Parts: sequence; structure tokens; C-alpha cells
Amino acid sequence: MRKNTIDGLKGQLNKNSKVSIIGHKNPDGDALGSTLGLHLFMKELGITSQVIMPNSSPDFLAWLPSIDTILCYDNDKAQCEEELDNSDFVFTLDFNHLDRTGSLGDHLQKLNTNFVMIDHHQQPADYAPYMLSDTSIASTCELVHEYITTQYPETKLTADIASCLYTGIMTDTGSFRFPSTTSKTHRIIADLIDAGANNSEIHQNTFDNNAESRLHLLGRALQNLKVLKDLSTAYISLSQDDLNQYGFKKGDTEGFVNYALSLKGIKFAVIFIENKAENIIKISFRSIGDFDVNSFARNHYNGGGHNNAAGGKSDLDLNTTLEKFEETLNNYRKELS
Ligand code: 5GP
Ligand code: MN
Repeated sequence: MRKNTIDGLKGQLNKNSKVSIIGHKNPDGDALGSTLGLHLFMKELGITSQVIMPNSSPDFLAWLPSIDTILCYDNDKAQCEEELDNSDFVFTLDFNHLDRTGSLGDHLQKLNTNFVMIDHHQQPADYAPYMLSDTSIASTCELVHEYITTQYPETKLTADIASCLYTGIMTDTGSFRFPSTTSKTHRIIADLIDAGANNSEIHQNTFDNNAESRLHLLGRALQNLKVLKDLSTAYISLSQDDLNQYGFKKGDTEGFVNYALSLKGIKFAVIFIENKAENIIKISFRSIGDFDVNSFARNHYNGGGHNNAAGGKSDLDLNTTLEKFEETLNNYRKELS
């Protein structure tokens, strides 16, 4: 599904415009790459913009250009609200429902501004008069690349912009291996390398900067792996005690679920992560092939995402969540076995 109503924006946006750019809660590579890439592009256009995130960014992306300019709603509520109240345009990137921004969403609902949505998730809400939404595209960074290169073909991408966009495409395509990766994705990547993105360095910065404790946490996650062979399903759980024991920092569990998916014959993989501070279990769902985890997350875990990658949460305790999950799975026996 594609919806493009962004063309009229160019005539409205100018050097006097005040722009805020927002990503979703617990920002990932695509949310950070797209917001920072667009922010740096606005700078090239001579337009002032401010990136605002609902909460802090993971350490493994701390090297991204201009990441230190981001305002974080959790730490700086008043300043974020002032920025937003004075914005003529609020870009929302890599999400399509305002409740994906946590408590910041309550303030966004009240704003009298022009929302612009650039996103690739399913079933977009209708808060944005200006939209570039395409669920067939692997990453929001690809859509930001489309937006800026089609609307402003005369403005060059800098190396920093290219690095930000490269990062989001790389992380949302699982380093260019998910089925959503197309020849067009690779052409955009070629364009970004030509513009100065250092591909090898970006991979190293992102994936080869592990703390020893993170690898031990991965070890624990793999010990906790449970395989339900007859349902082609494997899941991992991490309790708050596990996280505490290995000095968990935000972002440390990124990608763990893919180990469960890498097992031979597994079509559906899940990771359950206990968060005692928020009193929830955060869940990531991944699948290979036709099993639609977006619907699964929506129907059972108040979540959503894409056909092969989605997220959600449970308010029950960890053990009850796991028991209920196995019960629920039985209803999917036909699709999974
Ligand atoms: P992850 O499992 O890596 O957190 O997220 C996988 C995909 O699902 C991402 O596209 C993410 O934006 C989306 N997602 C994660 N958690 C939620 C959620 O609670 N609600 C919705 N609607 N989408 C989510
Ligand atoms: Mn994304």
C-alpha cells in the first residue's frame, strides 16, 4: 500500500519554517538514521529543524552524525514541548500512530501544527495531511531518500546525510538480506556510498563495538532458548534478573531474536524481555515466509509492525506471558506446522 500526498509540502516549507522531526519510542537505526538524515538535509536547505525522541538512543548508534543534538522527551519535557508548540511542521518518521511515541503522544495529539508522515509500517493513521507512506519499502530511510532526491534534486547529499540514511537501510534490511531488500535498495545504497557514506566503517561502528557483558547476555539468552519443533517456533526470554546480572544497557538485546529465527526449520521466532520499571514484557516477533507477525502482534499483544517483523507487549508477568503465548500458538497450528 502506498499513499503519497507530500508533493504540496515543498511550496509551504521555506527558510522561515520551524520544523520538528520525531522518531518512535526506543529508536532503532531506521528511526535515528531517518530523523538525523532529514535534519541534516534541512540544514542544507537553510531550514532550522530539531530532532526530538521520546526516550534515549542505544549506545551502539552513539557514533551517528549529530546524534548529540537530539532532544529527549524523557529528560527535557518542557524544552521539547516548547519546540513542538512553535513548530510549523512536525515530521513523524518511522511510525504511523502517535501512540508509538509513548507519553509524548499525548502532547502531539493536542498540537495545532502540520504533520508530515514518512513511514513504511502497515495501516497508517490519518493525522498527517502530508504523507509518504509505502508498506512495500524496507526502511523509512529509503523513503526519506526518495523524498529529498525527488523534491530537491538540485541539493546534494553530504557524507553525513548519506551515512545516516545508509545506517537505517542497513539495520532495517538485516544488512541487506531480508526479502524487502530490492535492486532499488541497492541502487540507493550505491548512491549513498557515492555521496560519501563509508559502508565498511558504518558496519563496524554499528556491529563490532560490543561490550563483553553484551556477549555474556547473549549467552544467557541462548541458554533460555525454547524450541517448539512441531510449531516451527523458537522463543527466547530474558528476565529482569538476567538483564541486571549482565549490566543490560539499552540496545543490548537488538538482534537476539534473529538467533532463534536462524534455526533450521523455524518459521516464527520471538523474544520476551521483562521490563520491571515499566511493568511490562516487551516482545519482538520475527517470521520467515507467510506467517504474518504484524497481525499476530496486533491481535494478541497490542502491537504491530510488518509482515515479517513486529513488536508488542504484555502486562502479565513473564511466566504467565510465556504460558499464554504457548496456549495462543496452538490456535495457529495449521499455519505453522
Ligand atoms: P522490534 O521488534 O525490532 O522492536 O520492532 C520490529 C518492528 O515492529 C519495527 O518496525 C517496530 O517499529 C514495530 N514495533 C515494535 N514494537 C511495536 C509496538 O509496540 N507497536 C507497534 N505498532 N509496532 C511496534
Ligand atoms: Mn523502519
